[in-house]
Amino acid sequence: MKFHILTIFPEFFRGPLDYGIVRRAQEAGLAGIVVHDLRAFTHDRHRTVDDRPFGGGEGMVLKPEPIFECVDSLGLSPREARARARESVVLLSPQGRLFDQDIALELAGLERLVLICGRYEGVDERVGAFLADRELSIGEYVLSGGELGAAIIVDAVTRLLPGALGNEASAQQESFTRGAAVTGEGPSSTCGSGGLLDYPHYTRPADYRGMKVPDTLISGNHEEIRRWRRREAVQKTARNRPDLLERVALSAEDKQLVETLSARDK
Ligand code: SAM
Repeated sequence: MKFHILTIFPEFFRGPLDYGIVRRAQEAGLAGIVVHDLRAFTHDRHRTVDDRPFGGGEGMVLKPEPIFECVDSLGLSPREARARARESVVLLSPQGRLFDQDIALELAGLERLVLICGRYEGVDERVGAFLADRELSIGEYVLSGGELGAAIIVDAVTRLLPGALGNEASAQQESFTRGAAVTGEGPSSTCGSGGLLDYPHYTRPADYRGMKVPDTLISGNHEEIRRWRRREAVQKTARNRPDLLERVALSAEDKQLVETLSARDK
């Protein structure tokens, strides 16, 4: 899969995408990341990428021409044929739809993903209206630019590319991942997230400064471990993200646990 990031600060990406899974995915040829400097698509002496807003008001707005020209240079399919060509152009914007694991999974099925990073007061509206296929926000807060958001999307999508994680089951068991198996044999398939938050993880030492790893995890009883992890995941989700419970298939045992927890909190 190829990512194209359009930015006025290309240097920003020196570093954040050069570590761990994202780095290995690039080295293995699973992901390619090309950063495009929007100033290279300007035609004036000052390489101007922004201008004052029509109608007055604060700040500057990123001009449409460098962004349209940069996307033109990528030779994507026409907008109406992009989905079929497995291509997508995304404008990073706090006004966009909230980026989540479901969208990450959908984007991981693409061949080319273009990420447009705004700055200043934002991007000329024609980019969102006529060039991008969608606007995505990475959270309900306003950042200074789209670069951090683009890096987050690249990371979240890359780890979902087949072969990017050493162990494919890891992605299935992670927080938010829906459709994962809930039961299984042996320690490697003890609990799928199924859309819940992840269960707690521990490693050695089993006793650190008197803080002990739960007995169940060192019992060797895989069925007990699976049930413990499921219970913990349900509890943590009920406590921190009760909204997620509405879209998760809960077993009778899970439901009973949720009822007990909510009765306790009353
Ligand atoms: N005036 C805009 C508003 O109030 O909605 C905010 C512009 S923001 C300062 C500049 C750029 O940062 C945006 O064009 C966008 O690319 C990026 N940005 C800021 N917050 C973001 C968020 N939560 N998600 C994605 N991109 C964001």
